[in-house]
Amino acid sequence: MSKLTVVVGAGMAGITAAYFESRKGRKVILIDSDERAGGLLNSDFNFGHYFDYGTHIYADTGISELDNFLHGNFSSDNCTIHTIIHNGNYFKGVMNSKSGYVDASVLPLNEYNQGCSELLSMPEKHPADNLQNHLIGKFGVTFYNSIFKDVVAKYSGVSAKTLAVNAVDPFEVTRILAFDENTTKRLTKTEMYNAKLGLHTKGNSSQQNYYPKHGGVGGQIFNLMRTLDKMGVEFRPSAIITKIREKQGRVYEVVTKSGSIELDRLIWTLPNSLLVRLVGIKEMQSAPPLFRNTGLFDFVFDKALNSNLMYINVYDTKLLSGRITLYQNMTQSEVYSCTVEVLADHGVDLKSKISLVLDELVKMDLIDKASSCIFRQFRPVGAGFPVLTTDTAEKYNRLNKYCNDYFRNIVFLGRTPSTFFLSDVLVDAYHKLVNQD
Ligand SMILES: Cc1cc2nc3c(=O)[nH]c(=O)nc-3n(C[C@H](O)[C@H](O)[C@H](O)COP(=O)(O)OP(=O)(O)OC[C@H]3O[C@@H](n4cnc5c(N)ncnc54)[C@H](O)[C@@H]3O)c2cc1C
Repeated sequence: MSKLTVVVGAGMAGITAAYFESRKGRKVILIDSDERAGGLLNSDFNFGHYFDYGTHIYADTGISELDNFLHGNFSSDNCTIHTIIHNGNYFKGVMNSKSGYVDASVLPLNEYNQGCSELLSMPEKHPADNLQNHLIGKFGVTFYNSIFKDVVAKYSGVSAKTLAVNAVDPFEVTRILAFDENTTKRLTKTEMYNAKLGLHTKGNSSQQNYYPKHGGVGGQIFNLMRTLDKMGVEFRPSAIITKIREKQGRVYEVVTKSGSIELDRLIWTLPNSLLVRLVGIKEMQSAPPLFRNTGLFDFVFDKALNSNLMYINVYDTKLLSGRITLYQNMTQSEVYSCTVEVLADHGVDLKSKISLVLDELVKMDLIDKASSCIFRQFRPVGAGFPVLTTDTAEKYNRLNKYCNDYFRNIVFLGRTPSTFFLSDVLVDAYHKLVNQD
């Protein structure tokens, strides 16, 4: 009888793991607590439109067998292929269509000049113990105080002083637009400035990014699950795990509300805090990590939105809106809809903010005066963006080391506080399952 692998979590990490595991000739059972697979790569259909939930785009990973599985079926017939992702940002009441990075040139002239001179003179290496020191070391105290301090607070809800260095990487708070295009091009030839400055235009990229023409980004999940089904992978949706049994670090049984599964190998794509709780390792149990109160606001208009950007990062701290995704530019078709991600403190009733978020789109001049909103909806996101404090990061690393040292037949994959972007999650899965096995 072939060996049985149980994969827990049918997000993209679990789906990819099930594929590579099954290719080794192993029997694979993929389980998820949700009724659908895909996790944070999904699309919801309403009012004749698809609204993505989480990630919006598939990017080439550069690993051909991984790319073949993920999007080998994509072509210009069924997919819009982008070599450049057109991002913009909105900061201090100004729309910048050049880049997703925050634009320092909208600051008052004296602050801007002072900030640029500090930025150019900051040392190359700036190791830091928290995000505040990291940002001051990288960009200088003026840009920190006039830009990053409030932007970090908007996205994370806490002061940068309490956060880990990489806590706001998902929001592109890693570089800055500070000089004109030519100066930036010259400066970024030096590694030190390249790490700080965002380019105005992204230039030609060899990386392909794919957005399906039908079904939103989540439409591809159906195809991936069909591939798994043909390979004999068994998918068990709506499965609630109540216990995981192990002996001396070797897991031998996963117990769910609808029965037990005996296994040889476990692929775990969820937080390790849940694993130690289900196994019952009391000394490693602690409070689960805090996530931002996250919501998605979807709108459909009767006319096109006033922008050719695919994403807009709203850094403006007077506005609630976070990243805006414009489907008309993702699909390059007459789909006049958008999704606005909003991150807020717990206790904020996000659903009640839908009119406010719509007003913000008007304020940013994205909606023409003659245009009407013909559909709106709110979707909450559970466990979206973690608040990565230095304390959480330290606990996470300790738990991660413990789990890696103790368990002998578990492969740990999936999104972690330090591996957020989908391609990083997938490349990590590939290396662990194909290269290191
Ligand atoms: C709002 C938002 C926007 C994002 N945008 C981008 C982006 O633009 N680009 C990008 O690269 N990345 C983006 N990401 C991150 C990206 O979506 C993730 O890195 C990626 O989808 C992670 O895949 P995963 O399989 O590790 O986790 P998930 O997609 O979270 O999948 C985990 C799966 O586990 C299941 N599960 C949970 N608990 C249990 C349980 N107890 N038992 C069994 N199953 C369980 C869930 O139902 C889910 O299906 C975004 C994330 C969010 C929240």
